[in-house]
Amino acid sequence: MEIKKKDIRALTKEQLRDFFVKEGDKAFRGNQVYEWLWSKGAHTFEDMTNVSKETRQMLQDNFVINHIKVDQMQRSSDGTIKNAVRLHDGLIVESVLIPVKNRTTACVSSQVGCSLDCRFCATSRLKRMRNLNPDEIYDQVVAIDKESKLYHNRPLSNIVFMGMGEPLMNYNNVLKAIDKITSPEGLGMSPKRIVVSTSGVPKMIKKMADDEVKFKLAVSLHSAIDEIRTSIMPFNATFPLEDLREALEYWYEKTKNRITYEYVVWEGINDTKKDVEALIAFCKFAPSKVNLIEYNPIDDGEFQQASSKAIDMYVNMLETNHITVTVRRSRGKDIDAACGQLANKS
Ligand code: SF4
Repeated sequence: MEIKKKDIRALTKEQLRDFFVKEGDKAFRGNQVYEWLWSKGAHTFEDMTNVSKETRQMLQDNFVINHIKVDQMQRSSDGTIKNAVRLHDGLIVESVLIPVKNRTTACVSSQVGCSLDCRFCATSRLKRMRNLNPDEIYDQVVAIDKESKLYHNRPLSNIVFMGMGEPLMNYNNVLKAIDKITSPEGLGMSPKRIVVSTSGVPKMIKKMADDEVKFKLAVSLHSAIDEIRTSIMPFNATFPLEDLREALEYWYEKTKNRITYEYVVWEGINDTKKDVEALIAFCKFAPSKVNLIEYNPIDDGEFQQASSKAIDMYVNMLETNHITVTVRRSRGKDIDAACGQLANKS
């Protein structure tokens, strides 16, 4: 019977050092191999040229190096790039490079499919198959960093966990991936340039606060009225707004970090004065920023972008109440790479 080899990148540096000691080698060998795996991005054991041939063979006998493969890359007329990424077991996720002025943002996936059921989101139609491993999240970022250098002549500057999946439903692996992304042995990026965007899982928001994470938090809110939010994000029935707000208050108490709300205004759903008043009442407890995101229809039109008059009303009322607001145009619409459109269609 063939023994299934373990992915070597699932080991921490300590575990790798211990492995070499057990094999009668020096712990230092673990550091060398770890550097090849993460800083130097080795795809094969053969690449590890300062490691002896025997050691490379021994690694080959015991482990595999699982790397993602960009199966298909699509480029939008606005410079946005969408990658269809094949995982070692053949499953596919998508990640997106979004270039704006002098920064490039990677929007990465955290699950294959999604555990949640937001009705306006194409990903919700894909059953959650599994969580991504830390290295699979990390590799998406590395691939986009390379594309950013190649097509936009600059390295990646920001990361948002806003692709496929709910990152807080794969919390441990997302945290491990961020550790690698921010570590000098990985990409050495500042955690302040990373945003984890959640649909609002109260227990996990509190856990993030307790863990004193250094990255930023964004919440996809879309309505501050329970009845409406439940109708568009059914899991709100399990995690109602009161629980979400309590968790966010806890987060703010502990971190003193401003909270960003992602918010789409849809015609006939959340485009009245009452909706804006509810939003203002919801987010006033802490310094907040509201990103009003342009909607990208995913099918026959149950959800339609609200009129510019409704958007102006949101902007005016939020500003009057000293809440920072930005209106975000979507990017990459022509390649189905815009917010809410990721559904492995390519
Ligand atoms: S919006 Fe995010 S959390 Fe909601 S179904 Fe889509 S991917 Fe999942």
